[in-house]
Amino acid sequence: LISRLNDTALLRTQAYVNGEWVDGDEGTFDVTDPATGDVVAQVADLSRAQVAAAIGHAQSAQKAWAKLAAKERSQVLRKWFDLMMAAQEDLAIILTAEMGKPLAEARGEIGYGASFVEFFAEQAKRIYGETIPGHQADKRITVIKQPIGVAASITPWNFPNAMITRKAAPALAAGCAFVARPSELTPLSALAIGELATRAGLPAGLFQVVTTSDASSTGKEFCENPTVRKLTFTGSTTVGRILLSQAADQVMKCSMELGGNAPFIVFDDADLDEAVIGAIACKFRNNGQTCVCANRIYVQAGVYDAFAQKFAAAVAKLKIGSGFDGADLGPLISAKAVEKVEDHIADATSKGASVLMGGSRDNTGPLFFAPTILTDVTQEMKVSQEETFGPMAPLFKFENEDEVIEMANDTIFGLACYFYAKDLSRVYKVAEALEYGIVGINTGIISTENAPFGGIKQSGLGREGSHHGIEEYLELKYMCMSV
Ligand code: ADP
Repeated sequence: LISRLNDTALLRTQAYVNGEWVDGDEGTFDVTDPATGDVVAQVADLSRAQVAAAIGHAQSAQKAWAKLAAKERSQVLRKWFDLMMAAQEDLAIILTAEMGKPLAEARGEIGYGASFVEFFAEQAKRIYGETIPGHQADKRITVIKQPIGVAASITPWNFPNAMITRKAAPALAAGCAFVARPSELTPLSALAIGELATRAGLPAGLFQVVTTSDASSTGKEFCENPTVRKLTFTGSTTVGRILLSQAADQVMKCSMELGGNAPFIVFDDADLDEAVIGAIACKFRNNGQTCVCANRIYVQAGVYDAFAQKFAAAVAKLKIGSGFDGADLGPLISAKAVEKVEDHIADATSKGASVLMGGSRDNTGPLFFAPTILTDVTQEMKVSQEETFGPMAPLFKFENEDEVIEMANDTIFGLACYFYAKDLSRVYKVAEALEYGIVGINTGIISTENAPFGGIKQSGLGREGSHHGIEEYLELKYMCMSV
């Protein structure tokens, strides 16, 4: 890995605590390249006491940071953004090496991740309060917004950079300090942006990266340490539930970006070629490993065969390989992930689905799986209720709008959904009826720093990105004055 990098100082294996690089009291843990199985780094494994110490440093640093003029915080964040973009290629290489996604997608993620830093650098200056007419003649009511204090994050491996920046940037812009615990599978991307935080002049302790192999113990420290006032998590609904119940003891403010089960609906008035482009982007980006990836593709009966044919032709062009070889589809993250895809295929075929394409592992390596299309998929199959998180596209058939809306909403999840249609009244009716936080209409790509990303139902709490995203790190204070 180091030989691929231009700026080798970005490859850090110690944890980033209080502006310094520290070893772990628990030794190290291995980070492997999922494409080859090779160990790419041995990273500091911090003890729970070391995590607690980092939280203490965050608390000390936060007070002075919150007192700065917004513009001063803004300038540091802007510098951080500039450094990230200047290092985009190296950051992308580190990301691909630890996570496996194609290098082009990794570059895209760095740009996307950095865009939150840019956006919230600007937003720091726009944390506006309000005045409200008093309730009595002598009363004046003023509302101000203040940083919540120390925020801590737990993030997954599928976006090792962007899932951290879209939490850390609004937190820092608001005047909070931030302690990040990256996935044990992908800590290197987080550590690299720690190095850039130092170079940007971010004072010590405001952004820290605590690398630990024991997620559960770190999660407990974050929830039980009274200094932490905000927990922000991206990951599975299962772990989200654990963290929410742990956080209850301290009545901690929580943001949760949890699982999805995105429906992707193709109506008979859709532009089928556009729908295929959207479905490919939405299903196969990151090899199907995103919480907004299409998980269930519903196609109206009249265009079902035509769509399946065009879709299969597009899927056949996808190239499998190492992220460094210009492939479209890299490895899956783990053996467990491969088994889940296999399980969903076996379950569906045992209940009557057919394999139109793929259906099995690819011999590029143990974690590679052939892009797969299943037809005749129904609501009785596992894939209708669980996220596959892999390169498997199940095609369901439907007859009319009411039926597909009911099927699409028949899930505990409510993150992203997508549909393709031209009829304007249909567009409004369907968009309003779908119980999701994000609706892609005639597009398969919906993520941007400008919009509020987040789910309803058991897909989460809170929003990330846009002017709404910073509210998660602010408290309202109302001052009532008698004149
Ligand atoms: P995924 O299936 O995407 O890996 P997880 O929810 O299992 O989703 O993991 C998301 C993040 O949560 C990872 O960083 C993981 O290490 C961490 N994690 C897993 N279990 C726990 C736990 N009990 N407490 C806190 N964090 C956890």
